[in-house]
Amino acid sequence: MANRFEGRVAVVTGASRGIGYQVAKGLAAEGAHVVAIARTVGGLEDLDDEIQAAGGSTTLVPLDLTDMDAIDRLGAAIHERWGKLDVLIGNAGILGVLSPLGHISIKDWDKLMAVNVTANWRLIRSLDPLLRTSDAGRAAFLSSGAAHKCRPFWGGYSVTKAALEALVRTYAAETASGTVRANLVNPGPMRTAMRAKAMPGEDPQSLPEPAELVGPLLDLVAPDFNETGKLYDFPTRTLIEYTSMV
Ligand code: NDP
Repeated sequence: MANRFEGRVAVVTGASRGIGYQVAKGLAAEGAHVVAIARTVGGLEDLDDEIQAAGGSTTLVPLDLTDMDAIDRLGAAIHERWGKLDVLIGNAGILGVLSPLGHISIKDWDKLMAVNVTANWRLIRSLDPLLRTSDAGRAAFLSSGAAHKCRPFWGGYSVTKAALEALVRTYAAETASGTVRANLVNPGPMRTAMRAKAMPGEDPQSLPEPAELVGPLLDLVAPDFNETGKLYDFPTRTLIEYTSMV
């Protein structure tokens, strides 16, 4: 179990803090070479220090995921260096502004869609050939309970997570007959900067730490995990099958 990812290459977006940081550390601890993506160089360097101190290895890629051409270049660079990709963790996301739909600025809406949806589509578009080249390409994307709840003022964020789920389920269906597997994860409330922004009055100590999610999430991207197009719900520790409404 300890070296399930030995010799494997993993991309983790949003690796500078929060859930992505811990997942990147977990993958490296089990032998993966982690390509760590985020904008904050300091956070990526802290991750690199921790991983190297534990005997692991990383490639740091300071990148703004709204730079779609850079996502294409990432695919080309991974192809040149490793010729394949084994794991993609589409974790980076933003909350946007919590407000009534009609009050969201066009700029904020466009940014939410760009980071939470379009960047993940561009990652799939750029990295799919590399995942297919792996003997067991695995992808997991971070969704949210908000994708299904449609609460007032959470509209922008909810719409992006619902779209992400449709995107990943479609990708899973398109790859089901091959060796690639793609799933979604609802982490539930986690002790991170995003959650603190969403719920400023909440005691962070009452929430699980991102490190607690790492084991279950790594199980979803391990080579022997064969389910696809499902949603792993961390609060209930359940792998949920989507059911068709028609
Ligand atoms: P954080 O805000 O703690 O971390 C978000 C990460 O995404 C950071 O590493 C950030 O890096 C990166 N990121 C944001 N924008 C960009 C960008 N434009 N380009 C590159 N990287 C970017 O969030 P969490 O760890 O809490 O959330 C991780 C995922 O889990 C998200 O998709 C979120 O929606 C989801 N989630 C979280 C929940 C929670 O309670 N925490 C609940 C449900 C879902 P940087 O700023 O350095 O670029």
